Amino acid sequence: MSTTPSPEPTTTRLIQAESEHVARNYDPLPVVVATAEDVWVTDVEGRRYLDLLSAYSALNFGHRHPDLVKVAVDQIGRLTLTSRAFHNDRLGPFAAALAELCGKDMVLPMNTGAEAVETGIKAARAWAHRVKGVPDEAAQIVVAEGNFHGRTTTIVGFSDDPVTREGFGPFTPGFVTVPYQDVAAIEAAINDHTAAVLIEPIQGEGGVIIPPPGYLRAVRELCTEHNVLLIADEIQSGLGRAGTTFACDREGVVPDLYLLGKALGGGIVPVSAVVGNREVLGVFRPGEHGSTFGGNPLAAAVGLQVVKLLQTGEYQERATTLGHYLGSLLDGLLGHGLTEVRVAGLWAGVDVDPSCGTGRDVAESLLARGVLVKDTHGQTLRIAPPLTIEAADLAWAVDELRLALKP
Ligand SMILES: *Cc1c(COP(=O)(O)O)cnc(C)c1O
Repeated sequence: MSTTPSPEPTTTRLIQAESEHVARNYDPLPVVVATAEDVWVTDVEGRRYLDLLSAYSALNFGHRHPDLVKVAVDQIGRLTLTSRAFHNDRLGPFAAALAELCGKDMVLPMNTGAEAVETGIKAARAWAHRVKGVPDEAAQIVVAEGNFHGRTTTIVGFSDDPVTREGFGPFTPGFVTVPYQDVAAIEAAINDHTAAVLIEPIQGEGGVIIPPPGYLRAVRELCTEHNVLLIADEIQSGLGRAGTTFACDREGVVPDLYLLGKALGGGIVPVSAVVGNREVLGVFRPGEHGSTFGGNPLAAAVGLQVVKLLQTGEYQERATTLGHYLGSLLDGLLGHGLTEVRVAGLWAGVDVDPSCGTGRDVAESLLARGVLVKDTHGQTLRIAPPLTIEAADLAWAVDELRLALKP
């Protein structure tokens, strides 16, 4: 035998293995990632890419941030799981630090974002029925058009995206949908049975849709006036991405419940939480809600370190400064392949001129140029690099985008 077949895994073979054995609930770009460090990932062929998606903002601190990896590895060497049948020595410190970061006094730990949303819904309903005095099973929650809150049957039931809904009903009642960015519509939707308004301060999956100044503040005032809870889904917008710890901070708004996830797990483990005050989260009695993995010591150790990183303020500041720079670079492409640019912190939604192809076409072209981005809703690209990125890498990436936008 003169030649031996390469033992290296190949992109094609691995993609084929995936498509044979993994349900097709995603349509990934054709890259197979093997390793990553900070803002760069490397595929199985050894090619490097700049990550401008950050796992939908779960990687705000970059891939394998040394402080996060260290606490995770240390914790794996000590204790990983107890279940909440027993206490563990990590949950209390994590919950105290996270509550303080939010200016609240109570945390309910879960794992995924959708679970945090479900938990927020249950908390709001129980609060309405037990505290506000809404008749049992009559509580209503107001949500916005274009929302994305996750993928459970209840949550997709109040989505207006047909792709996420069709075929998955019957759905949970009790939700009222109003147009996003429309204060009067929320006011009209509120009645004696309204438990909460559930809203993304910035719609991420919707294409980084940033409401006009004053919107969130007006929603906050309405909720206060009518004794309705404001639930902010900050799962994607929070934890530094929008240039502030929470996107609500941009307007000085404090919701009754924060829904957190994604970056809370440091890109290492799924960690989510609902954070609020005792008047609301205190409605849960033992046995009424739970999760086998929620609040596990590994998650709590990583989550505590995430809170410590955010306490420095460094990431929020980077998001602000680099976001201004990114915005100015992207504005230069307006009329040259982009029809609209929306930026909040280090987070951009850009609409691709159809003469340059679809968002997916541009994402594939960028992939060939060593840049990872993801399209959403046809013509939109979402740009959300790790908050650790350097200005020079941003400039390079936008230059590649300029080239990829050539019709
Ligand atoms: C991603 C996301 C969710 C769902 O989080 P999962 O961890 O995927 O369940 C909910 N709300 C918003 C705003 C999100 O971006």
